[in-house]
Amino acid sequence: MSSLLGNLFILAAPSGAGKSSLIKALMEKYSGDTGHPMQVSVSHTTRDPRPGEVDGEHYHFVSRKQFESLIEQGVFFEWAEVFGNYYGTSRVTIENTLHRGIDVFLDIDWQGARQVKKLMPDTCGIFILPPSIDVLEQRLNHRGQDSEAVIAGRMKQAVDEMSHFNEFDYVIVNDHFTTALHDLEAVVKAQRLRTGKQQMRYPKLLDELLGMA
Ligand code: 5GP
Repeated sequence: MSSLLGNLFILAAPSGAGKSSLIKALMEKYSGDTGHPMQVSVSHTTRDPRPGEVDGEHYHFVSRKQFESLIEQGVFFEWAEVFGNYYGTSRVTIENTLHRGIDVFLDIDWQGARQVKKLMPDTCGIFILPPSIDVLEQRLNHRGQDSEAVIAGRMKQAVDEMSHFNEFDYVIVNDHFTTALHDLEAVVKAQRLRTGKQQMRYPKLLDELLGMA
């Protein structure tokens, strides 16, 4: 898949780092930009939809039986069990989108990231960190009314996820949202300008410039 024009990005983070808001802002900023098309991959999951989540938009919600059958059919590019539920990324959708020159963002955990990096080593892995342990704890105490045990459980999951930060190519600390968004855009733009991609994008120009046209 390395000869695909679109770039594949992985965005990973502990819950509470602000990853979803960053992805949303990035997509809003570039959704009308035909010069830099990008989209977020919609995963399959066996977890129940949360209020406001739409099937086919936030996730493809399926049963465990359906998910296991999809694994057997080789549908997934990567899949993992996260917090007791299955999550997976469809291979065909990713390949088709990248072939069309569209950058694809995978919002997945470290286990999925490892699988993707193995299959496509030029995938750009980005890890988002919260600015402090206090901020993380505040963000994980969603309604301010969770028990200490619930918050401690969420903190442990967050620390587990963060312990994999150094398996990624870039780390963005989400202290000020606007700065973090600029950082993310900088990484995305740099990835698009990599020599191999530019060669694919500008074959005629390069031939002309090098006197081979
Ligand atoms: P949530 O249930 O809160 O939407 O997601 C829980 C975790 O599962 C997040 O870390 C999210 O990035 C991860 N996740 C979502 N989709 C996928 C996927 O397709 N594959 C993997 N490996 N992880 C995923």
